[in-house]
Amino acid sequence: MENMFDDTYFMKKALQEAEVAFEKGEIPVGAVIVVDNRIIARSHNLTELLNDVTAHAEMQAITAASNFLGGKYLKDCTLYVTLEPCQMCAGALYWSQISKIVYGARDEERGCINMKTKLHPKTIIEGGVLADDASQLLKRFFIEKRNLN
Ligand SMILES: [Zn+2]
Repeated sequence: MENMFDDTYFMKKALQEAEVAFEKGEIPVGAVIVVDNRIIARSHNLTELLNDVTAHAEMQAITAASNFLGGKYLKDCTLYVTLEPCQMCAGALYWSQISKIVYGARDEERGCINMKTKLHPKTIIEGGVLADDASQLLKRFFIEKRNLN
């Protein structure tokens, strides 16, 4: 049997968080942080509810994971996030020294890759895991939002 705890497995968990955000009327982005195949933080975007532009899924996941670990560095952790991190989140991830970032959909406009945000030299970044699911959810959100206005 294959290892069930692969990137797809954890990205599905991040997508579930994104769906919770969707239900709350938040831009649907979700994240989980994993260490040794164990989820230690799960979060979703809450910028509307908290009225706070810094309330991205990744920012909250970093705080929750640090609280869980009792230390500020996330050296052996992997972040799964449904959308490529923005430069704010990539900057916070730099400080966390996280081992690995796995994102779903690319964000050509506001993502850290095209913005050329520097990640920590020890951080590996990979993308494209369940990218279609993540971008479909985002598209559905913006279509519904447009129809409401
Ligand atoms: Zn962000």
